Amino acid sequence: MIGLGSIGKGTLPLIERHFAFDKSRVTVIDPVDTDAKMVTDKGYKFQKIALTADNYKEILTPLLTEGEGQGFVVNLSVDTSSLDLMKLCRKLGVLYIDTVVEPWLGFYFDETAKAAERTNYALRETVRREKKKNPGGTTAVSCCGANPGMVSWFVKQALIDVATETGVKVKEPKNRKGWAKLMRKTGVKGIHIAERDTQRAKKPKPQGTFWNTWSVEGFLSEGFQPAELGWGTHETWKPKNAKEHDKGCRASIYLEQAGANTRVRTWCPTSGPQFGYLVTHNEAISIADYFTLDDGKKLKFRPTCHYAYHPANDAVLSLHELFGAAGKVQDTLHVLEEKEILDGTDELGVLLYGHKKNAYWYGSQLSIGETRKLAPNQNATGLQVSSAVIAGMVWALENPEAGIVETDEMDYKRCLEIQKPYLGPVKGYYTDWTPLEGRPGFFPEDLDENDPWQFKNVLVR
Ligand code: NAD
Repeated sequence: MIGLGSIGKGTLPLIERHFAFDKSRVTVIDPVDTDAKMVTDKGYKFQKIALTADNYKEILTPLLTEGEGQGFVVNLSVDTSSLDLMKLCRKLGVLYIDTVVEPWLGFYFDETAKAAERTNYALRETVRREKKKNPGGTTAVSCCGANPGMVSWFVKQALIDVATETGVKVKEPKNRKGWAKLMRKTGVKGIHIAERDTQRAKKPKPQGTFWNTWSVEGFLSEGFQPAELGWGTHETWKPKNAKEHDKGCRASIYLEQAGANTRVRTWCPTSGPQFGYLVTHNEAISIADYFTLDDGKKLKFRPTCHYAYHPANDAVLSLHELFGAAGKVQDTLHVLEEKEILDGTDELGVLLYGHKKNAYWYGSQLSIGETRKLAPNQNATGLQVSSAVIAGMVWALENPEAGIVETDEMDYKRCLEIQKPYLGPVKGYYTDWTPLEGRPGFFPEDLDENDPWQFKNVLVR
């Protein structure tokens, strides 16, 4: 296991619960040894070291090749290259899983890089190119956390629900094209990964600190990347600072502004209408790409897809302070542990909109109370991620020669079957809400009243 941060600490006990393995062969690697005891007390090895482009082969190769059997790298770190790690694993015949396409240290805050080079599109394309160059072989699961990850499985279940309930004849699609055709036929125009995290700390957040319910470093890295979204065929308007890509799958666009400072209107079951941040995420691109229909020359259909994230209130306040201070990051960064949290729920789902019944949210409503009963060492946000890692690991063990895969390409039913016991209520809700509700209010607004679900109406301008 690489990385013993908030997700690593939650995943390790679940690995122990669900898999049989030789304990003497487990090594956890992290440059910070604050929690090393939880590893060594169990009889596992701990290596206090930061993996770098120069040392990763030397450090990992002996660990992954000694003895018999097949190794498994579970990468839950920041600042390590997912691409390099999965290439090494596949070369050695070792299974691999991560929760994000992570680059080596320096990528996210490289002031000399152009905006396009700092996108998740660019990161995902590196993995797509490798997959194309070396198809098949040992399984490496890319981006299998809650989101990216689990939400791709939710999209398929939600699509089946909406299609069935709006009278579309449904035969479970067998391949990517079949899924894209079903989405088009169902009239889905787009998808928000709509999340509301209401977990709150027992103590109030002091000024000058950044608090979050998962990696602050991870959140800041993606939050400072350009806002990115899968760009649907129904869109008739684009923001002035929107840019396209000229190479690759071309499923997404990016805005020349930080995602964590870009707000959109969205909807979650408990809060109803809410603002979310359009932070870039791999799934915004992979889902839009997966459900694309073209005939080789012309684009026929693609849904718009983006994250609409209302993080915990402490994180919202932290962002407000940070952007108010011209982007200066607070001196103290802190991930709220389970024991520091008073109450709250992470409501994380997919909002499929534009169809006959307007919009449908399907997802997990996991409270901190239920999380405490289900698994140790983590809050609700963490358990949604760590349980997806477990599901992805099971799938990889059952499909060890599947090559490089994204969660969109995995068996969503099997993965959800494994993960669901950890997700609290997993339910679907229809809503009549659209981003035009209550608008224009007191003041004139530039709206598209003909089509409520245009990005023009969704984006807070
Ligand atoms: P964290 O910041 O709590 O932990 C990251 C760990 O990586 C730290 O312990 C850190 O010391 C370690 N690390 C830093 N540099 C390293 C290096 N060079 N080599 C090895 N280890 C190194 O983060 P987290 O909340 O545990 O998240 C871990 C990863 O999971 C991040 O990449 C994050 O973006 C991702 N994540 C994905 C999802 C999802 O749903 N897909 C959700 C949460 C987090």
